[in-house]
Amino acid sequence: MQNRGKVKVCVNPNWYPYESFQNGGHVGMVADYLRLIFGNLNIPFEVIPTKTWSDTIQFAKTGKCEVIAGAMQTIDRSSYLEFSHPYLSVPAVVAMKTERDSQSLQSMTIGVVDKSAFHDILRDRYPGMTIVPVRENREGIRMLLSGEIDGFVGAHTSITHVLRSQQIEDVILSDQLRDNWDLSVAVGQDSSPYLMNAITKSIASISSEEHKNIYRRWALVEHKHSVDYRLLWGILACVAVLAGIGLYRYLHMLSYNRMLQTIAEKDALTGILSRGKLRTELEEFTALAERHNWKLSLIFFDIDNFKGINDTYGHVKGDKVLIELTELVGGMSRKTDRFGRWGGEEFLFLMLETDLKDAGVIAEKFRKAIERYDFGLPEAVTSSFGVSQYSKGESIECWVGRADSALYRAKGEGKNCVRLNSNEKGRFN
Ligand code: GH3
Ligand code: MG
Ligand code: MG
Repeated sequence: MQNRGKVKVCVNPNWYPYESFQNGGHVGMVADYLRLIFGNLNIPFEVIPTKTWSDTIQFAKTGKCEVIAGAMQTIDRSSYLEFSHPYLSVPAVVAMKTERDSQSLQSMTIGVVDKSAFHDILRDRYPGMTIVPVRENREGIRMLLSGEIDGFVGAHTSITHVLRSQQIEDVILSDQLRDNWDLSVAVGQDSSPYLMNAITKSIASISSEEHKNIYRRWALVEHKHSVDYRLLWGILACVAVLAGIGLYRYLHMLSYNRMLQTIAEKDALTGILSRGKLRTELEEFTALAERHNWKLSLIFFDIDNFKGINDTYGHVKGDKVLIELTELVGGMSRKTDRFGRWGGEEFLFLMLETDLKDAGVIAEKFRKAIERYDFGLPEAVTSSFGVSQYSKGESIECWVGRADSALYRAKGEGKNCVRLNSNEKGRFN
């Protein structure tokens, strides 16, 4: 991969101290992370300058840059970017002139940087809110002061930097969103899969000491001149979050390295996701669904009488059926779907922004396609399907278990059919 030339990286030019351009150079926490992550891998990169965050997103969409150094995962971005695990978590705050309760956010006019991940989060969470996209933080604060907007949503330390550098004192920062900007490295989907893989491993190898050093270097700079106790508490909270991340990273790295040895991300026979990788995807998808109120459904399916196929035509033919069936179903999936092998002849298909009814329709489409496909056997190969929709707050075990019990019902009611589980969380058929 070192021979492939420099990787083109886009950044946020106006987000100091997280990152910005100063004297033609990329500086800030994200810049340090970028050097660390790519330095570990010995991969050369160049930063492609942009004027605004919205330009950066546009460059990534149109392939003018291959990587965004620090971006939060959203469903829209997931259709053209792949995201690493987050390496930095930044508290989100609402800058306001007077504190208002969380309920009244619903009816407020709130500014947020154009194409920011929080634009989508606010839109999903507060349908009554009027959201005003702005070019960058300074413009947002200016509009807040002039009364054009009631509040401005941004990352804690970058907003305090703007307030401090302009000596603005009558703005308060509220943490009522209780949410964070989770920054990941984002890689274009046309890019080599090795790049994402390498970046993931490099992030996992960052020590908690390195995390703390980067944080100290940039966040504490704000304190050199005078002490503002409100800011100090904010920063202490950030350090606590960061220490938490450091510990989490460390524990995660230990289990991650062990996991790498034992579980490949792809199933060896079919090339679709392995059970281990599916588990990670389930965790990430449920976290996204909780945050954005997205609908999330899964299809759990199992080939009918597969033992008979093996017994009659041999194991090699059985393997061929598994490969062709996964190619058939995989070919019908969307970019944001996830498809993997749960075990022997059992598969799990995961869909974002899909409710139970629509998932049932998709399962029926799969059922028909499998039944009609010519596997080169005298009889048709069929499968039975169970479908369930994620219910907020329920465990992954419970959600998958509900699809499994619907599948069990499909088997009991004659096989080659789809059954939905519409139970409330925690209750099984
Ligand atoms: P049902 O309709 O109730 O699902 O019956 P079934 O025969 O499909 O289910 P059963 O659990 O009795 O058998 C599953 C078979 O799948 C047994 C096992 O040998 C076979 N199998 C599991 N993994 C593989 C594989 O990787 N390759 C092949 N060829 N067969 C496999
Ligand atoms: Mg079976
Ligand atoms: Mg089975």
